[in-house]
Order: sequence, then structure tokens, then C-alpha cells
Amino acid sequence: MTDTKTMLEIRNMKRDYHLPGGFMKKAKTIHAVKGVSFSLETGKTLAIVGESGCGKSTLARMLTFIDEPTSGDLLIDGQKVDTRPGHLTSEMRQKVQIVFQNPYGSLNPRQKIGDVLGEPLLINTKLSAAERREKANDMLVRVGLGPEHYNRYPHMFSGGQRQRIAIARALMLNPKLLVLDEPVSALDLSVQAQVLNLLSDLQDEFGLTYVFISHDLSVVKYIADEVMVMYFGEAVEYGTREEVFSNPQHSYTRSLFAATPKADVDSIRARVAAKALAKAG
Ligand code: ADP
Ligand code: MG
Repeated sequence: MTDTKTMLEIRNMKRDYHLPGGFMKKAKTIHAVKGVSFSLETGKTLAIVGESGCGKSTLARMLTFIDEPTSGDLLIDGQKVDTRPGHLTSEMRQKVQIVFQNPYGSLNPRQKIGDVLGEPLLINTKLSAAERREKANDMLVRVGLGPEHYNRYPHMFSGGQRQRIAIARALMLNPKLLVLDEPVSALDLSVQAQVLNLLSDLQDEFGLTYVFISHDLSVVKYIADEVMVMYFGEAVEYGTREEVFSNPQHSYTRSLFAATPKADVDSIRARVAAKALAKAG
């Protein structure tokens, strides 16, 4: 059994993309992630913030084995991960799951929700169809849906519900680490708050570790223990939420704050207050 305090660590991770040349066009290399390092304790949330194109999704894909780093080390749950294709163990694969921004794009429109949730369980050949069904129904309840949704198709759900389904699917194999790439960016503000509350409850319930990616500082302020700010592939700021919000070191971070409208700050306060009330009652 591995039961480490550090769930995730990356050291000097880099990813280059080589774009081939063509007629009147020179080949070029994009340095999407330029040597990023951090470590994250079990049960905590690291928020990664930065504007479009700064390398957040590239980092997310490397953390979830979708994309191979050009160089650098990846350690998960105390183990160094061999990221070369074909070298990943199924045990390691199960530990890490990803949730994308657009749940509709990642759900098969012809697949019933029950089957969406039951599918990951097929790797355990000992489970009967009835057991898979029961586990899927349990997870539906945990994310605020219910067994009555089992036979419905993705188009029958709202955006927020579809994101709940995507989260439920990600949790079916009891992962330890969830990478959430802009999970609420496509949702209305009130729905964002509900999904953030759900994520926070699930984190407590399952002891999950989160890497939460967002371009929106108001969302990050609400959910993060630690914050990393990325700018053109580099981490320009990294610290606890309190440090980064009260005393940002880098001018880019300060410009991000300046760009965050006051209304957002008010809505964070409202959300935090609502959550505190919900917890108390
Ligand atoms: P973000 O998620 O912060 O918006 P991305 O990680 O998607 O940023 O992109 C970082 C940079 O890498 C961008 O310049 C983007 O165009 C480039 N990039 C991302 N994926 C690829 C790819 N598969 N091929 C070539 N370039 C890519
Ligand atoms: Mg992205």
C-alpha cells in the first residue's frame, strides 16, 4: 500500500510541439510548457491560472498521461511514472482522471447515462451487470442526480447536470487525483457555484486531490489551497492562496487581478457565505 502525503509532484516538466514547415512557411517549435515544477499534498487543491494559450491544457494532458512530456519527471502517489507509451501500468492509470470543460463533447450522445458510468467498471471482469448498475446508481446519487436518470441520454440534461455526470464517470474507479480543466467555465454563474460546492464535498468525502485549471481568478479564490499562475508556458507565481491573493509577486499576476471585475469578488463572497450556511445547517 502506498499512502504518501505528497500525491503529485512534477519536476521541470516541458512540452514542445513541432510544427512542420510547408510552402513559404518555416518549420517551428512551440514551447507550450517550459519547465514547470510543483508538489501537491494529498487532499489539497492546486489551482492553475492563466489566460488562453499559456499551456494549462498541455500540462493537464501530461498529468493525465494523454500527452507525453518532452522532458521532466512526474511522480504520482510516491511513484515515478514511466510516461513512455506502453509503459503505464493500469494501476497508475486508474489513479488519475480528467474532467474537461465541455461535458457534452466528452459524452457519447447515443449512450445512456447508466452505461456511461458503468463502462469504466468493465475492466473488473468479476463485477456482474447488476453490480455495475448498483455502483452507477450510487454514484449518480453522490453527484446530486439519481437512479431515475440511469436510462436517459446526455441531451436530456442541462450543462450543469452533464458536468455532474462527467465528474461521476471520472470517479467510478476511485481515483486519487482529479485534473479538472476549466470544469465550470462553460456554466452560468449560479450553476458554477453548485458544481464547485459538489467538487468540494466530493473532495472531503473521497479524500481527493485536485488540480483545478481556470482562467477565472474568482473561481480559483473559492476552491484553491495553492495557486500557480502560468504565463507563456512558465509558472510565474506559485504559493498558497493567501500568499498569491494578498501579496502577488509577479506583475502579470497583478494585472490578472486588475482584470477581475469587482462583481466577481462579490459573487465569491456570496458563494462562500452560502456554503458556510449550507455546512452549518
Ligand atoms: P491553454 O490551455 O492555457 O489555453 P494550451 O495548453 O492549450 O493552453 O496551449 C499552449 C500552447 O501550445 C498554445 O500556443 C497552443 O497553440 C499550443 N498547442 C497546444 N496543443 C498543441 C498541439 N497538439 N499541437 C501544436 N501546438 C499545440
Ligand atoms: Mg485549455
